[in-house]
Amino acid sequence: MDPKKPAVLKLKISGNLQGKIRRGYPWVFRYQILNQPPPGKAGDLGVVYDAENRFLALGLYDPHSDISLRVLQAGARIEIDRAFFAERFRQALAVRKSLEAEGTTGYRVLNGENDGFPGLVLDRYGDTVVMKIYTRAWIPHLDKILPCAESLLYAERCVLRLSRNAQDCPRDGDDFKDGQILFGPPLDAPVRFQENGLGFEADVFKGQKTGFYFDQRENRRLARDMAKDKTVLNVFSYSGGFSVYAFAGGCRSVHEIDLNPHAMLAAKTNVALNFPERAANAGEYRQTLGDAFEELERLRGRKRTFDMAILDPPAFARNKKQVEDALRAYVRLVEVGARLTNNGGILFAASCSAPVSADDFYKAVAEGIRLAGRDCDELMKTGHAADHPVTFSEGNYLKAVFYRIKDKYRK
Ligand code: SAH
Repeated sequence: MDPKKPAVLKLKISGNLQGKIRRGYPWVFRYQILNQPPPGKAGDLGVVYDAENRFLALGLYDPHSDISLRVLQAGARIEIDRAFFAERFRQALAVRKSLEAEGTTGYRVLNGENDGFPGLVLDRYGDTVVMKIYTRAWIPHLDKILPCAESLLYAERCVLRLSRNAQDCPRDGDDFKDGQILFGPPLDAPVRFQENGLGFEADVFKGQKTGFYFDQRENRRLARDMAKDKTVLNVFSYSGGFSVYAFAGGCRSVHEIDLNPHAMLAAKTNVALNFPERAANAGEYRQTLGDAFEELERLRGRKRTFDMAILDPPAFARNKKQVEDALRAYVRLVEVGARLTNNGGILFAASCSAPVSADDFYKAVAEGIRLAGRDCDELMKTGHAADHPVTFSEGNYLKAVFYRIKDKYRK
């Protein structure tokens, strides 16, 4: 037997979980496997049968991950070959069809479980695509996926990124590395792409996620449309996405805060790429390197205020245990953000913490505004951009809200 060829393992799970999987849930955790399957290796195929021993689902097995099985196919049993993945690519591309016509050449092509590629995302940056895998179970199947990326996406180059878990876990005989070029010429400069007609650069080797936060594209567009003549505070600015859009919307100035010096440099480059004169004008574009909470307090101490505050922090909660602390942090952040926002100004707050529910987050935002002693009108609640479809609850991580902040009416 070829040791590299994926084996097929039979897994037993509870009736309850069978029902969930039949309804589209994509994961089986290790503790949910009721039998003792052979040890297996990452990328073996796991098959689940129902109580009557009928085929229920098939997926990628990973003995090194808490998620032992990521479901590829439930219902009918079909061959997991190149044609299977090509069809999934076509379906995913159909959802993203309008983006390029809107001047967007950087976007998510495959959003993991939500596009039928559990534990894998694929982002396009013009001619370069970046594949990020959250389990090494994909590695034995790359030979079926890469030809799809080449022929259906017309990608010139594909870069592999590995999540922390996928880097740290034991190897089952492969030597794939984070940042490896899977096909195409080497890359020695940041990639360039467009979003809604604006130009951006990203470092796809060292950047966060695959290099850029495509999930906020729709919120950036909304922020652009509200930015006219405003002074904008962009907190957790990363590579300047919201700043570029604010300038595109005709804002008066942008002040960025982030603690990552590489992100600050990238932000300056991106602003300069689109608005070189404004990037060079210290009165219109400022950056503060530091901790957001401390810097916001400092601005408050100096009685600085803004017409628009953008609060887009990193995930404060990675698991259920961290939710309470995360909610307290959101309240604190929004409270000081609301204090810094002028009467009639806009406050945008987002959470990408998957374990924090939308309801709890929105309550935390409202509480922060209340503690700041401000009134507000809710303008809109939003989520992911359209290239981030969501098909199961854990996939629904991004929630965001725009408020108009007002002084309390005094008699
Ligand atoms: N709004 C951005 C994405 C933000 S990602 C966009 O549209 O692209 C979160 C950012 O928060 C990262 O750049 C990270 O460096 C920064 N960050 C994390 N913790 C921080 C802290 N305590 N203070 C300031 N910045 C922080």
